Amino acid sequence: MENMVSLFEPELETHQGIKDEYKLCNRCPLDQRRTGVVFWDGPNVAPCMVIGEAPGKDEDAAKRRRPFIGRAGQRLNSLFHHLDIDRSKIHISNAVLCRPTDGIKNLKPTWEEIKICNQRLKAEIRLTQPKVIVTLGQPGTVAVLGPRYKATSMTKLRGWHKHTYVYNGMPVTIPVMASWHPAYELRARGAGRTDVTAEMARDWRSVVKRCPDILKS
Ligand code: URA
Repeated sequence: MENMVSLFEPELETHQGIKDEYKLCNRCPLDQRRTGVVFWDGPNVAPCMVIGEAPGKDEDAAKRRRPFIGRAGQRLNSLFHHLDIDRSKIHISNAVLCRPTDGIKNLKPTWEEIKICNQRLKAEIRLTQPKVIVTLGQPGTVAVLGPRYKATSMTKLRGWHKHTYVYNGMPVTIPVMASWHPAYELRARGAGRTDVTAEMARDWRSVVKRCPDILKS
């Protein structure tokens, strides 16, 4: 969504600035049903950044709101454990910061909501200075790679891409791994499919190869 986020807001020059700017955000209709805004987890500056879709019920309801603390988060944690990855070294965030819901279920964020939250996401990437980004699922992938991929399925998007952000006035191009969302992998596994699990592990092994900094030390 590069071309949608050309306006630079000086408030978005630090992570705390983003929090101050978005803690009461009402730029999109998601503010009407959320309990609160779910900001990132992990270090402000990190070698690897994970971008999911949106907070779900668990993340929204928790006293200490953090992304990926529900079932999908537990699945991610067990994958990290299996691959010796240290979650605390990764900056984990979402395409949108508020839970999309009809009051009962978790919903997918709309493209309009993703677009509205994209200026924040791009500022967060720029400030976090990752060496690699991992996007989980289609909305998170499109939020990073841009709206031209809106109609592309994850089967086609899965794999390595590139993203350029500007740091200290200089363009920095980094690899982006588009991988399965753990919630999708859980559903696939529940339906007796093991291919998604194997592919997700393969993607993360490939991430570790490019970014061994996230391994447990
Ligand atoms: N799913 C996401 O995409 N993000 C979360 O934070 C939790 C579940």
